[in-house]
Amino acid sequence: MKKFTKFVALASAVVMAVACMTGCGSKASGKIVFGTNAEFPPFEFVSANGVIDTYDGIDICIAKQIGEDNGMTAEIANMEFDSLLVAIQNGQIDAAIAGMTVTDERAQSVDFSIPYYNATQVIIVKEGSDITCAADLAEKFTAVVQGYTGETCITELGYKYESFKKGTECIMELVNGKCDAVVIDSATASKYVSDNAGLVIVTDEEAFGSEQYAIAVKKGNTELLNKINATIEKMLEDGTIANLSDKYCTAE
Ligand code: GLN
Repeated sequence: MKKFTKFVALASAVVMAVACMTGCGSKASGKIVFGTNAEFPPFEFVSANGVIDTYDGIDICIAKQIGEDNGMTAEIANMEFDSLLVAIQNGQIDAAIAGMTVTDERAQSVDFSIPYYNATQVIIVKEGSDITCAADLAEKFTAVVQGYTGETCITELGYKYESFKKGTECIMELVNGKCDAVVIDSATASKYVSDNAGLVIVTDEEAFGSEQYAIAVKKGNTELLNKINATIEKMLEDGTIANLSDKYCTAE
């Protein structure tokens, strides 16, 4: 190692150590509480060998990394998707990481990080269904998850639907022939289709635009937002998020 490089390495080690002594321990509680709804594979789901406690998925890995990058422990608070924004506002959680699509409406009550994943809504149907595009849902019966952007899409189209608490409940309705289609995010749909025989995905890029997932924090919490953004930026640049996406989207 050259002398100068050595010096820089040593100096930055000292700076980091001092920063850690003054920062990590004293800073609030030394933890970041991430709210999620662990019903959204491959982004978050419950698993015996989770990445944080029993929670696993792309988002959980990102949360863990944000914690590690800041010398803090990332904790997961599992709750209904619908409760996440309120939980941020009342300080129950520091941030929400939940495959959450950035929308203007949500951005009125929370601040969003830079986006880390592109998605779109898709339609899941049974093999042999005559549904080939979103307009075909007009005369059909669709299941969506309450509060997801899928519900917003079907509401905007003005079609009949029923909403459920969980994606798996929607899939059961479809499998049992109680509904004709499920509208849900693309990566999650792929997961459900690979786990349940006899289901296929119908896409309609014109009807369902592109969505971006981001992490939400309390309005004005730029300190945490900057930390989150720094980690996301790094994970996007060095390919970690792409690798996680490959890993979790193909894994059984
Ligand atoms: N992306 C969808 C939304 O933001 C679904 C998110 C989720 O279920 N976790 O509404």
